[in-house]
Amino acid sequence: MTSYKDLGLVNTKEMFAKAVKGGYAIPAFNFNTMEQMQAIVQAAVETKSPVIMQVSKGARNYANGTILRYMAQGAVEYAKELGCAKPQIVLHLDHGDSFELCKDCIDNGFSSVMIDGSALPYEENIALTKKVVDYAHQHDVTVEAELGVLAGVEDEVASEVSHYTKPEEVIDFAKRSGCDSLAISIGTSHGAYKFKPEQCTRDPKTGKLVPPPLAFDVLHAIEEKLPGFPIVLHGSSSVPQDEVDTINKFGGKLPDAVGIPEEQLREASKSAVCKINIDSDSRLAMTAAIRKYMAENPGHFDPRQYLKPARENMKKMYIHKIVNVLGSNDKL
Ligand SMILES: [Zn+2]
Repeated sequence: MTSYKDLGLVNTKEMFAKAVKGGYAIPAFNFNTMEQMQAIVQAAVETKSPVIMQVSKGARNYANGTILRYMAQGAVEYAKELGCAKPQIVLHLDHGDSFELCKDCIDNGFSSVMIDGSALPYEENIALTKKVVDYAHQHDVTVEAELGVLAGVEDEVASEVSHYTKPEEVIDFAKRSGCDSLAISIGTSHGAYKFKPEQCTRDPKTGKLVPPPLAFDVLHAIEEKLPGFPIVLHGSSSVPQDEVDTINKFGGKLPDAVGIPEEQLREASKSAVCKINIDSDSRLAMTAAIRKYMAENPGHFDPRQYLKPARENMKKMYIHKIVNVLGSNDKL
């Protein structure tokens, strides 16, 4: 058993309480490479922001769970080295799909886990979540649950259609499951292709897709039922069109990739939404920088040469999200 406390990590309890009160959201960035980890830590330290570093099942399969845990421990030490006296870093399991996986993470240094029972029938979702909560709380680990289904593809999580969270269910669910935060479905979606063209309109000037707006009425109805309870938004990348354009210019092919407009996420951050998940934007920032570098420097083959601008580009994106979208800067 390795407690996250021995690694210098924190759970989400205090940072969520502050975020809900302060009208901002904590960034939850997925990571599975050293360059992503470095960029996340540099961005969080420079902006004085708390940060959630999250690991999906796919990331564990790619990088190995043990390595990722040591990287999170390294992130805390690296933040201190960069001058942050008291880093607020959470290591979170994204989309845990079983009690066993959540337990394994809790036993191995994670400070927060998500148990995603959203595809299960309502009562089974409560029962599974409660089982994880009972174990997690013995170890002071916080638990995120999910109610409602998001469309899109995220690693091994995929769904064809979304079902908005039903506000009439949230009080009963939160009370009986004991979860510390709740991921809801209000129209965000996993992946870089969040919406089919037929769901969108098209900007006549640029020809780009304009996605349907988030269901703020559902969010506000949930907030009314659970005042002050931490709400989480998954699938909240904005799919920056300049990165998509760079990728397409240098040999990529991402037609009609579109995300959640940042002004809508900014608005959501001011509400009970206190954790916003961003994964695809980091992938796009990394790929755009690498494609550009490769195209402009065909003779180079040292990975450090193209990973360096990739890391810089991700860091720029993380800082932008923290300062201009989530508002979590200067909160340490
Ligand atoms: Zn998700």
